[in-house]
Amino acid sequence: MNECLECGATVDAGDDPMVGEILACAACGVELEITQVGPIVLGLAPEIEEDWGE
Ligand SMILES: [Zn+2]
Repeated sequence: MNECLECGATVDAGDDPMVGEILACAACGVELEITQVGPIVLGLAPEIEEDWGE
């Protein structure tokens, strides 16, 4: 079972979780990134910056 890092709510990683996948917590809306699978480790997803890239 995976828990949200922000609020502790259960986060469903789906049937086929993959590293790098972004999950949104249904309870608080924070975005969590799967950093490891088997067992699953969740990290806070980096905030998307508009000037990312160029
Ligand atoms: Zn949460």
